[in-house]
Amino acid sequence: MKLSRLQPRLKSINTNRLQVLTAQPEIVERKRGYAGVKDRSAIKRRDNGLCQMCLAQGIARPGAEVDHKRPLWDGGTDDEDNKWLLCKPCHERKTSDEATRRARGY
Ligand SMILES: [Zn+2]
Repeated sequence: MKLSRLQPRLKSINTNRLQVLTAQPEIVERKRGYAGVKDRSAIKRRDNGLCQMCLAQGIARPGAEVDHKRPLWDGGTDDEDNKWLLCKPCHERKTSDEATRRARGY
């Protein structure tokens, strides 16, 4: 009978994966409104208005967007030391790389 074969299969499902997911660090909520604006201008000043990824390659390109070095979804904090100024192309490339990583689950 089919039902008697189905039950043993259900019992053998590995639940380890579920435990891994619940053990992930809590995602920090980013600052919004005035706190966020104040924070972004502080980062721009600190980074001298320059894209930090370009600067690392010796290129002085104006930064446009404040980015979380380690993304919030990956356990990064919303603190200043986890933020840096990036130009639009660098930010887009980094965001796209992170989206790929996130989709693959690591
Ligand atoms: Zn850049």
